[in-house]
Amino acid sequence: MSTITLGGTGLRIEKNGFGCLPIQRVSVQQAVYLLHKALDGGINYFDSARNYTDSEEKVGRAFRGMRDKVVLATKSHALTGAELKKHLEESLRCLGTDYIDVYQFHNPPFCPRPGGEDGLYDAALEAQREGKIRFISLTNHRLGVAREAVESGLYATLQFPYSYLRGEQEQELVEQCLAAGMGFIAMKGMAGGLLRDGRVAAAWMGEQPGVVPIWGVQKEEELDQFLSCVPDTPPLTDGDRAVIARDRAELTGEFCRSCGYCMPCPAGIQINQCARMGLMLRRMREEDYLTEYWQQEMKKIEGCLHCNQCSAKCPYGLDTPRLLEDNYKTYWTYFEK
Ligand code: SF4
Ligand code: SF4
Repeated sequence: MSTITLGGTGLRIEKNGFGCLPIQRVSVQQAVYLLHKALDGGINYFDSARNYTDSEEKVGRAFRGMRDKVVLATKSHALTGAELKKHLEESLRCLGTDYIDVYQFHNPPFCPRPGGEDGLYDAALEAQREGKIRFISLTNHRLGVAREAVESGLYATLQFPYSYLRGEQEQELVEQCLAAGMGFIAMKGMAGGLLRDGRVAAAWMGEQPGVVPIWGVQKEEELDQFLSCVPDTPPLTDGDRAVIARDRAELTGEFCRSCGYCMPCPAGIQINQCARMGLMLRRMREEDYLTEYWQQEMKKIEGCLHCNQCSAKCPYGLDTPRLLEDNYKTYWTYFEK
């Protein structure tokens, strides 16, 4: 069995969790079907967020009357204590529960602390005393904030991007987290859609002790790939290791993770897609990206103001305008073929 204890929380969960962002994009019926299939397959950790439109409502609909069978995590993007309390009440109502197991500050630009002027941590503590949340946690895309959260000793879990493309810094963060007795929840285990085989990604995660990946699921075939590693994760085969080595060779270094934290762009450029267009063309179906729509979107790069707002906000330190230019050039070469 691949049941593990989530950090120091004492929560026993299946190692592979379910990321509830993509179920926004499917019907209620399809979302409920996927959530039930995941639960029947052994997954019991479900991670949503207040700003994933109707995701919490769909989770609430799926697990009505089954609260004791699932561990529910959600997030608030509030920046003040008052806003957080409002978000929490909405989340409880949508999820159809009177408590949330893991309540996470959703990618705050700083590490909330007790007594902070923002009032976030104090509001979470109050909710914890009232029994509305069990554990206070944090998600982030910024290494600095994530490290501060681990060192603060204030958080039960950290959620951070982590996949088999991870670098040394992310690996160190995992180790610091586990040493501090915190749970590590891995988001973007498929590197924002760049990795293609969910079974290989899940099998690799199986070899990372203490790490709980939350797999974003929109289609049943994606879910089936992850469920093939539940409850027992098969060991990586030589073929799997070759896939990982090939992906690492192709994708290591400066590439856009599609997180979108550099947006909005004053020139209206869809940076999180356009800055990795070359990769999408190589790794996905070309015809999906050579459309009239994407040609218009790529043309917007010509209007880049070089204001560098994007690179200043990029948590991966990318030179975003240069990346856009490179992808622009690559894109049009596809029409010369
Ligand atoms: S540098 Fe260009 S792409 Fe980046 S935010 Fe400014 S206008 Fe947008
Ligand atoms: S350029 Fe950086 S911040 Fe913007 S989407 Fe890509 S990885 Fe995220």
